[in-house]
Amino acid sequence: MTLRFTFAPLPTRVVFGPGTLASVRAEVERAGFSRVLVLSTPGHRHLADRVAGLLGDLAAGTHPHAAMHVPAGGAERARETAARLSADGCVAIGGGSTIGLAKAIALSGGPAYVAVPTTYAGSEMTPVWGLTEHGRKRTGRDERVRPVAVVYDPDLTLTLPPETAVVSGVNALAHAVEALYAPNGSPIVDLMAAEAVRVLTANLPRLTVEPGDPGVRARTLHGAWLAGCCLGSTTMGLHHKLCHVLGGTFGLPHAQTHAVVLPYALAYNSAKAPKACAAIAQALGESDPVTALWTWTRNLGAPSSLGELGLTEDAIAPTVDLATRDAYPNPVPLDPGRLRALLEAAVHGAPPQ
Ligand code: NAD
Repeated sequence: MTLRFTFAPLPTRVVFGPGTLASVRAEVERAGFSRVLVLSTPGHRHLADRVAGLLGDLAAGTHPHAAMHVPAGGAERARETAARLSADGCVAIGGGSTIGLAKAIALSGGPAYVAVPTTYAGSEMTPVWGLTEHGRKRTGRDERVRPVAVVYDPDLTLTLPPETAVVSGVNALAHAVEALYAPNGSPIVDLMAAEAVRVLTANLPRLTVEPGDPGVRARTLHGAWLAGCCLGSTTMGLHHKLCHVLGGTFGLPHAQTHAVVLPYALAYNSAKAPKACAAIAQALGESDPVTALWTWTRNLGAPSSLGELGLTEDAIAPTVDLATRDAYPNPVPLDPGRLRALLEAAVHGAPPQ
């Protein structure tokens, strides 16, 4: 097959390493911000306060109100707070929800931001934004929502409970898997994705037995960064679409949903996803990547079905409808009958076919 690709290096500056939170002021100064609003979820108010302390006279205030899937009303209130405080920059410290809030502010012409991720979701490496309103999650791509810099301090992930860390890690794994069959992949994306699969599958099981090991946490965050680079460089397929519908329309928790759906999505696409299948099979040391991935996620302690997350069979038809309404690239054509069967199996935790 003739090699043909387009590759644009990611524009985001990345600072990685234990203790790098201490460099947040230097990154803010480098970005030229002088009045900074610090964003977090309510549960991470203490981290927002810590960042404000590190910023000193550059801190304009904190806004610890980020919520999952970025409700449009919450984004509006954050924008108003940024305007009221005359903020010219933000720092978003937290997972994808907090970074999503910073993106919503930047999208509306508000200040740019420095991201300090505390989960493995990968949003900080992408130009993808999301907003949820009237039970629908809208997403889009806009270069304005990329952070000016990302500070990856693995020490911040030490508090992520193993059960949350594991599903967040599988969320990252899903970016790498879908990048390996994306229509706009490239040799560099393939390398990053295969390495992300290797690093994440090697370290997530260790994380469950040694959650306090800083080395395991750092390697997992390294894998998540690579996976985030894949997410930010390619277009995702069926797996991300299903999770997006299940999260935005039925309120399912983001990372847990990814952890359940991934083996089913890989099964659906397996006939046309040789690189993804090979990477998973090699990393897990098994010949059948789908069964190996399904078993592996369960052994990690991830939820075993969408039913366990609260989804009922009533949701299957609307999910199929929403997941097939708009065109998007997927290696295997979208067939409503096969998608219904996929979701039925996932609702009940039956082996993926
Ligand atoms: P999250 O940000 O909601 O975090 C999950 C929970 O973990 C929260 O309660 C949070 O306070 C807590 N938490 C986060 N870090 C912690 C830590 N270090 N220690 C202890 N607790 C911690 O969830 P998420 O999975 O990181 O992100 C999900 C959201 O991000 C979804 O809305 C999803 O759509 C979005 N997302 C967007 C993109 C993108 O490219 N736009 C990519 C991935 C995810």
